[in-house]
Amino acid sequence: MVTFVRCATAADAVAAVRDGDGTAKFVGGGTALVLLLQMRLVQVDTLVGVRTIGDVPGWSGIEQRGNVLWIGGGVTLAEVAGSALVRGYAPSLARAASVVGNVRVRNAATLAGNIAEADYASDPPAVLVSLDASVVVHDGARQRAVLARDVFTDFYTTSLDESDLVIGVAVPLVDGSVSAYRKFASRSMEDRPCVGVAVSARFEDGAVGALEVVIGAVSGTPQRWPEITERAWGRRLAAPLMATIADRYADAVDPIADIRGSAWYRREMVRVNVRRALEEVAASADD
Ligand SMILES: Cc1cc2nc3c(=O)[nH]c(=O)nc-3n(C[C@H](O)[C@H](O)[C@H](O)COP(=O)(O)OP(=O)(O)OC[C@H]3O[C@@H](n4cnc5c(N)ncnc54)[C@H](O)[C@@H]3O)c2cc1C
Repeated sequence: MVTFVRCATAADAVAAVRDGDGTAKFVGGGTALVLLLQMRLVQVDTLVGVRTIGDVPGWSGIEQRGNVLWIGGGVTLAEVAGSALVRGYAPSLARAASVVGNVRVRNAATLAGNIAEADYASDPPAVLVSLDASVVVHDGARQRAVLARDVFTDFYTTSLDESDLVIGVAVPLVDGSVSAYRKFASRSMEDRPCVGVAVSARFEDGAVGALEVVIGAVSGTPQRWPEITERAWGRRLAAPLMATIADRYADAVDPIADIRGSAWYRREMVRVNVRRALEEVAASADD
C-alpha cells in the first residue's frame, strides 16, 4: 500500500523523502509518477505531496524579482504557458510549456516535476538551458541554485539528490533578448517531442550580440555547441548564416533512434528546425 503525506513546509517534505531511505518520493502533479507506479516501474511506499507547501516564498507564483523571472516549484505548466510575464520575458518557455502533452497534463504537471523527471523527450529542459536558467533546490537546511545545463546529466538522471526539493526556477532577464522554441513531434502533437529546438539571442545594432541554440530529445541531455553559435556573434543573422548554423548542428548532433524517429530522421529534423527557430528569433528582433 502507498501512503500519501501532505507537507506544509519544504523542510518537512525533504525530511520525509530523506527518512524514507529510497522508498518515499515527492509528488507534484503526479502525471509522471503515477504512470510509473501503475506500470510498476518504481517502488514507492510514501508519496510526499508538495503542492501544499506554504513556507517557500513564491512557491505557487510567477514573479519578477529584480533581473530574474521566478517560477515557483508548485507552478503548473498551464500556468507557465498562460503567464503574461513568461510570455513577455521568456516566450520560448511559454511556448514549450504550451505544447507539453495535452491540456489535462498541463493543468496538473509542474515545471519542477518535469525537471526532476528528466525524461530526455521533454520540452522545457532545452529551453531552460538556452535561457541560462537556474534550478533552485532546498536540501532541508539551505537553498542552492544549480545551472539548468548542469542539472541534466543522462537519460532520466539529474545531478540533484533524491531528497533535493525543487523550489523554483530562476530565469535571468536580459535586456533586448528574444527567444523561440520549436517542438517537432513525429506521431501526434500530443506526443513528446522527436526533436526540440530552443534558441535565445540578443541583437546589437542588427548584429548578433549573443546566441544560444539548444537541442532537446535527441539524446540523454539537452545538447549545445557554443563553438558553432559563437561564430555568429557580431554578424547579421541572414539566411546563409542561419543555414550554416543549422547544417553544423545537424553534423554535430549524435541522435538516438527510438519509436519517434531514426537517427537519420532526427538529424534532418534538427537541420530544418534549427533554421526555422533562428528565422523566428531574427523576425522577432525585427518587430
Ligand atoms: C500523457 C502525457 C504526455 C506528456 N507529454 C509531454 C510532452 O509532450 N513534453 C514534455 O516535456 N513532457 C510531457 N509529459 C511529461 C510531463 O511534462 C511530466 O509528467 C510532468 O511535467 C511532471 O510533473 P509532475 O508535477 O506531474 O511530476 P510528478 O509526476 O509529480 O513527479 C515526477 C518526478 O519528479 C519528482 N518531483 C516532483 N516534484 C518535485 C519537486 N518539486 N522537487 C523535486 N522532485 C520533484 C517526483 O518525485 C518524480 O520523480 C507528458 C506526460 C503525460 C502523462
